Amino acid sequence: MPHPSASAPTPTTSGTDLSAAQVARWRRRLAQRLTVERDLPWRRTRDPWLILVAEVMLQQTQVARVAPAFERFTSQFPDVETCAAASRADVVTAWAGLGYHRRAVAIHESAKVITADHNGVVPSDLEGLLALPGIGPYTARAILAFAFEDDVAVVDTNVARVLARAVVGAPLGATAAQRLADSLLTKGNGWAHNQSMLDLGARWCTATPTCAGCPLRRSCRWAREGWPLPDPAWRTAGTSRPQERFVGSNREARGLVLARARLGPIGPTELADLAVSLGDERITTAVAGLVADGLLERTRGGLRLA
Ligand code: SF4
Repeated sequence: MPHPSASAPTPTTSGTDLSAAQVARWRRRLAQRLTVERDLPWRRTRDPWLILVAEVMLQQTQVARVAPAFERFTSQFPDVETCAAASRADVVTAWAGLGYHRRAVAIHESAKVITADHNGVVPSDLEGLLALPGIGPYTARAILAFAFEDDVAVVDTNVARVLARAVVGAPLGATAAQRLADSLLTKGNGWAHNQSMLDLGARWCTATPTCAGCPLRRSCRWAREGWPLPDPAWRTAGTSRPQERFVGSNREARGLVLARARLGPIGPTELADLAVSLGDERITTAVAGLVADGLLERTRGGLRLA
């Protein structure tokens, strides 16, 4: 007669929480089967400033576009001091091609705060990082994990998808996903664990997953159950937000106005040219936002980079 535990599924403690035995099994599996798959420029360093720049860039831009921009930006601003001493216009100009330019302002402001309040040293604690402009909980944890190799779990869209599908086979709220991710981290292995989870989500467990070949295929709860719908990732925190349509968006208008400003001051003629392609209302909204965000400043009769 088989031992009861050989066939009965191990019960979870409550909802999406795992029992201690399940956590131990998943920790072992993840450590044995996952590898760091992508060689990315910010993975070759532990310099906290460079990691901070990369993580802010990665907040809203795809890895493929961040890689060349990261090399370019950090060759111009290789350290906190250089960035803090630069003009806002130079920092925004170096941000070209990444969009969401408020992040360039945030990086510039962060460099100034780090210089003024931390002797030029990037804080190594959550509280200090969260106090920097543009650094939210995810980015702060990513800096701790990837620069200081702290054992903190980072949960982005990709990781949340893996946790929901493979580990619990059910949608996860943000708090439950973070709690689960924290529990699966093996002490002393935070850097590699987090990078390999990000890679699994980016390479295999994408929005439309490639389960054949996935290193977790045999253990994945959703796959073992035959991929029942709805996909657990669909209602998982942060994984199903639709991308804002770019064409016709305020983001597009802001990008075009900034691109023009990088060429030199914008006067009435340049504004009229922009209005032909964008329309007066979009120009007005974009300019007002860029001025409010500290990216542009008004001059007598026109605008220029702040
Ligand atoms: S088997 Fe499929 S669903 Fe499961 S973790 Fe791998 S890619 Fe994702």
